Amino acid sequence: MDLTARTPAELSDRLTALRAEHQRLKGRGLRLDLTRGKPAAEQLALSSALLGLPGLDDHTAADGTDCRNYGGLRGLPELRATFAALLQVPAEQLVALGNSSLELMYECLVDAVLFGVVGGDAPWPREGRTAVLCPVPGYDRHFAICEKLGIDMIPVPMTHTGPDMDEVERLVADERVKGIWCVPKYSNPTAATYSAETVRRLAAMETAAPDFRIFWDNAYAVHQVAGVDEPLADILGLSVEHGHPDRVFVFGSTSKITAAGSGVAFFGSSPANVAWLLGHLAKRTIGPDKVNQLRHARLLPDAPAVHAHMARHAAVLQPKFELVDALLEKRLGGTGAASWTRPRGGYFVSLDVLDGCAARVVELAADAGVALTPAGATFPYGKDPRDRNIRLAPSYPDPDELRDAVEALTLCVELASVEHLLAAAGTPA
Ligand code: PMP
Repeated sequence: MDLTARTPAELSDRLTALRAEHQRLKGRGLRLDLTRGKPAAEQLALSSALLGLPGLDDHTAADGTDCRNYGGLRGLPELRATFAALLQVPAEQLVALGNSSLELMYECLVDAVLFGVVGGDAPWPREGRTAVLCPVPGYDRHFAICEKLGIDMIPVPMTHTGPDMDEVERLVADERVKGIWCVPKYSNPTAATYSAETVRRLAAMETAAPDFRIFWDNAYAVHQVAGVDEPLADILGLSVEHGHPDRVFVFGSTSKITAAGSGVAFFGSSPANVAWLLGHLAKRTIGPDKVNQLRHARLLPDAPAVHAHMARHAAVLQPKFELVDALLEKRLGGTGAASWTRPRGGYFVSLDVLDGCAARVVELAADAGVALTPAGATFPYGKDPRDRNIRLAPSYPDPDELRDAVEALTLCVELASVEHLLAAAGTPA
């Protein structure tokens, strides 16, 4: 029944029952965690062959490179060829580097503020004089980089087809606005995939800043969970077509394909931008870990092998997403107290509760031993103006733990909603 249609007297009765239920929950001494999108051990085991690869006698790449030695800043050609197709970047414009794409994003932003980027005549100004657009809800670690570097963040609402493009086009008329964060496929956290029209508008739009960059974090490029691959338009090709060849930095990694802490990260862009990044990286390193790249090339020799591997991940993840949806529906369906996404890929469910209730839900869950991503984390500076969004990460817990955690969460959502509605009706809880 719709909670928002209940009388204060009905809500008061409900509150008494919910508080008793919450007390009993606390008594169970749960210790559960829905905070970070980590692969479960069962998923990591899908790549356990990596630990025996490339093997004692195998250290030579296809082009004859001895992977044990220094050099090869661009990474192994065979691995780049496999991921070129998956990340929609020509292989010669894709480089394979260390284990973390987040590190590459940080590197690019630091280089932008220290040295400037191709097409700009100066470093990006800092301390509030450069701004980056942040589709919200979005990925907290993107926002943390900007905050650290003194780059302003301007939130732009996410829709089911990507960021609100009317708003983006309006904001990029300000030359202070130098970039936008994008997780274009199975987005973190809403799981939306940008429509072809959104991608075209991002590639085509006129920006006041000549050195504007799209940070195209395609972290979930091959991570479908429901047996359907949502197509994504080719941003790099479109930006060339529309006369902005240097606009896009593409990032990706195998973190959620193989071993999250020991994967391979990729950067793809125009030839000029690749030369720009490698020019900076060459001062930091003589070359990436090519032995790790070789064992990845052995495990995943081509794009079909990656897709087959990802289908095995999906077999682990899909039941977890279905369980979360079923449990949310069971308790919160029809209550008017929450809405949530039903992802077809990626790692997250985005839950919206009543305005003003997210922080309270997180607090009630913490009291009951269930750790949730802090309310506000999906917004710049950790501030959700409506205090309503909570990111759920169902991958890591086993199914029994996940059931306990989501059942506890749904109780906390109902309890926080009833408290809120009573307070709004002027009835002290
Ligand atoms: N980008 C997004 C959107 C992510 O969700 C994550 C992981 N949670 C990352 C980047 C981190 O990628 P990596 O492990 O390659 O640093």
